Amino acid sequence: IKGVTHAYKTDNGPLPVLDDLNISVPEGDFCAVVGPSGCGKSTLTKLVAGLMKPDQGEVWLHGERVTSPRSTVGMAFQNPVMLEWRTILQNVLLPLEIVPNKMTKKQKEERGRELLALVGLEGFEDKRPSELSGGMRQRASLCRAIVHKPDVLIMDEPFGALDAFTREDLWQTMHALRAEEPFTGVLITHDLRESVYLADEVIVLSGRPATTQHVENVKLDGRTDLEVI
Ligand code: ATP
Ligand code: MG
Repeated sequence: IKGVTHAYKTDNGPLPVLDDLNISVPEGDFCAVVGPSGCGKSTLTKLVAGLMKPDQGEVWLHGERVTSPRSTVGMAFQNPVMLEWRTILQNVLLPLEIVPNKMTKKQKEERGRELLALVGLEGFEDKRPSELSGGMRQRASLCRAIVHKPDVLIMDEPFGALDAFTREDLWQTMHALRAEEPFTGVLITHDLRESVYLADEVIVLSGRPATTQHVENVKLDGRTDLEVI
């Protein structure tokens, strides 16, 4: 993220959110972004995913400038939307219907089943979304976010709506997924324990709006004590 400045247009004039922000995350790293409500974390994810264009500055992913939404970015949100008229497996396979690929129907199904097994949802492939708990739906939505092997997985408070026990289960799931499927990850979270447990580095945005002098990039190097951040 190079010199990114962004303001929303509102009835009361422009609302500056990001101001000359510079952040870089090495390929393959999993980075957490923490910061107070309203500091621009979700705005940042939308810019990285190409869903919005910054007023100024550039976003680059794997050597390519991001100017439009792209399927090489997978996204997961707090409340995953699933299609009720489809089974869990069919929901997970949706991206493979949209993103061009050479997989046969059988290969797609195998891929979906493998991912679901990896997150502990073996046996739930043919259930409907409403037959699963919130934590299970979130697991399935993580599978859907990476089924087409995106280069980057962006997660905006994916575990925010879950109870503490389920959330910690999901942390294990994330470790299991990452061990099988290396991807660059960006995790927005309000949970500092989650950030140090899951990430290789934590980006702390402390200002509102977030500007370069408000950004601190903390490399964890395996440390998980909260004092680090
Ligand atoms: P939270 O932790 O509460 O999710 P955040 O860090 O993700 O907060 P953003 O959603 O990026 O914050 O919002 C940053 C600021 O921009 C807020 O003041 C918000 O009201 C404003 N904002 C966000 N989206 C829009 C929009 N589409 N139009 C106008 N203002 C917006
Ligand atoms: Mg947000």
